[in-house]
This record gives sequence, C-alpha cells and structure tokens, in this order.
Amino acid sequence: MTPARRTLSAWHASYDPGAAKTILNNGRPCRVVFDDTFDRSVLRGGPLTGAYRLRQLHLHWGSSDLHGSEHVIDGVKYAAELHMVHWNPKHGNFAGALKQPDGVAVVGIFLKVGNTPKPEMKRILEEIENIKTKGKEAPFLHFDPSILFPKSRDYWTYHGSFTTPPCEECITWILLREPIEVSSDQMAKLRSLSKNDENEPPSPLVDNWRPPQPLKGRIVRASFK
Ligand SMILES: [Zn+2]
Repeated sequence: MTPARRTLSAWHASYDPGAAKTILNNGRPCRVVFDDTFDRSVLRGGPLTGAYRLRQLHLHWGSSDLHGSEHVIDGVKYAAELHMVHWNPKHGNFAGALKQPDGVAVVGIFLKVGNTPKPEMKRILEEIENIKTKGKEAPFLHFDPSILFPKSRDYWTYHGSFTTPPCEECITWILLREPIEVSSDQMAKLRSLSKNDENEPPSPLVDNWRPPQPLKGRIVRASFK
C-alpha cells in the first residue's frame, strides 16, 4: 500500500496483566484470550473514538521466513503478523460490535526475522509447548501484551474487514510501522504447532495468513511524515 502522508494523533493502550486468561490452539492462528467483561484492558486515541476492550491476540505466519504477514508494505512481506483484537463496548458484546462500522479495532505488529529477537516474545513461545495440537488450551495468566509493542508508535490506519470470515467491514486497523524481531528458531517453533488434534497425525499449522486484498479506494492514513 502507498499511504497518504498525514499526521494523526497518538494511540494509547492500558492493559491489565490480570486480564490474560488462556492460550489456545484451535487449528487456526494460535491465540491468547483476555477477560473483556469490563473495561480492564483498553485501547484509546489515534483514529478511535472512546475506549476499545482487548479480547484476544493471535499470530499469522508462513511456511518459511519469507512470508506470513497479511499486510504487505511497499512490496515487503514479513515472517509473521501479530493482531491484537479490541471491540467497542458501546455495542454491548463482541458479536454486536462485528456488525458495526466502528465495532472493532485491531493493532497489527509485523514480526521480522533478525539477530536481536524481542525477549518479550519468549513467554508465548514457551507456552506453545502446551498447545501443540488442535483443541489444546492452557492457562496464560499475568501477561501484559503491551510488552510486545515496538519502540515506535508510528502507524498506518485504514477502515476494512477481517482477513478471515465473516469479513464484515467493521475494523479500524492500526498497523505499526516498526516491526519487532524474532529469531528463525522462534519461527520454527510456531511452525511446530499442529492443525490436527492429538489423535491424528501431526500436520504443521503454517500459512494461516491470507493474501492482501485490494484496497478498493480505501484511504490509508499515516501518523508520521
Ligand atoms: Zn488476524
């Protein structure tokens, strides 16, 4: 995408580590689930009006380090992409928010293979040992996902849909410019997850990303010049 250069205000996340609940392999992108029954972990500012509650985070990755991200910036594909999914409590519940144009806000962070892997990714990668096969779920307590943010808060934003069904046009994307680094070994660990359950032969959970959709006249704005 070629974003229009225009200044936007800063976004802020205020996450309660006590809201983290479980980590889960549902045969699709593995996810960490948070308590969203009240405003305990919220995202504000930037292109958003009001506070959005954190519901879950998940990762998309590829079958090699050369691809895996769902967004492509100026032709660059990253090894993985982390999505933090928030919803607007004014719509009552997540299902209701999915039907509203201002229902959901997703922070997207690129993962790039490099020499200085972000130590904060360790926790998720360690817990992966406990959810090797589809249907496995493990406790994932006391975790503040803001430790995964890169140093820079620069972002692109546009209005769009989920990359997986039901694809309602309900998402305000906040896509961070600066990637975080992971090692090639850490990527291999993600690929060691199986999309089959424990009674079936293992089948690597890879390429759980979808190719970028055409922007179709959507306006992409940047928070930086
Ligand atoms: Zn996603």
